[in-house]
Amino acid sequence: MSAFHREKVLSVRHWTDSLFSFRATRNTGFRFQNGQFAMIGLEVDGRPLMRAYSMASANHEEELEFFSIKVADGPLTSRLQKIKEGDTILVGRKATGTLIADNLFPGKRLLLLSTGTGLAPFASLIKDPDVYDRFEQIVLVHGCRHVSELAYGEQLVAKLRDDELFGPLLAEKLTYYPTVTREPFRNRGRITDLITSKQLFNDIGQEPLNIEDDRIMMCGSPAMLEELRQMFDARGFAEGNHSEPGHFVIEKAFVER
Ligand SMILES: Cc1cc2nc3c(=O)[nH]c(=O)nc-3n(C[C@H](O)[C@H](O)[C@H](O)COP(=O)(O)OP(=O)(O)OC[C@H]3O[C@@H](n4cnc5c(N)ncnc54)[C@H](O)[C@@H]3O)c2cc1C
Repeated sequence: MSAFHREKVLSVRHWTDSLFSFRATRNTGFRFQNGQFAMIGLEVDGRPLMRAYSMASANHEEELEFFSIKVADGPLTSRLQKIKEGDTILVGRKATGTLIADNLFPGKRLLLLSTGTGLAPFASLIKDPDVYDRFEQIVLVHGCRHVSELAYGEQLVAKLRDDELFGPLLAEKLTYYPTVTREPFRNRGRITDLITSKQLFNDIGQEPLNIEDDRIMMCGSPAMLEELRQMFDARGFAEGNHSEPGHFVIEKAFVER
């Protein structure tokens, strides 16, 4: 048995010169928890070329969705960005990852902090009814350099707000806070600064960060994650994992090579 499922690309959408998303068929045997990632890729010269990707679709959906970077000289994404409807991609049989609600202590507010394609696991999690059961408030923060890079997230949230099942849940519990660093926009600044200065909480009209109520999931660049980890460590927040839950959990959106 091969380590990979062969899936058909169903649609591809290019959002910017550096971001695209695509949907693919999902083998009925491919199980995952919302927030997890799997190895996906292409067959190149008869061999699998695989990279870690978060599922941006939820586990109740029939199809798979991924939100991807385009790295010009990246071994995988220089090729993956050219996929078209009907092409074949490989999807590893096993999903894994730490961005799981069970890895967090119970709490009242869930902060989902992301930059760039780090939004992908949260695209899955905000389509999980269980997350709305567990938390009273969910705050989805997405930081990018440019406004155009927010488009995938903006459309995702807009579509969910119109959804029969999720519309009421989002209206009651989800606050979406996109922010950019390199050009004018209604929200500006880096996530660490927005939390430290309390600007984020002032803007959304909610209580500042507090260890009793807040649980955090974060996914972004290694540099952003390190800064946030230090900030949360300094405030006494503990990192959770599969063996022990904590106040926050971390997943890298990519690894520097
Ligand atoms: C747990 C995990 C989950 C991931 N989920 C996703 C995902 O959902 N979507 C996605 O596009 N990528 C994701 N990645 C990154 C992905 O595995 C690949 O690195 C990416 O597809 C580029 O592959 P490549 O072979 O073209 O270039 P690589 O040789 O893998 O990367 C080349 C360089 O490009 C930069 N880079 C790579 N990925 C990104 C990125 N996502 N954002 C910004 N810069 C990047 C880094 O500087 C890296 O050193 C994830 C990585 C990890 C570890």
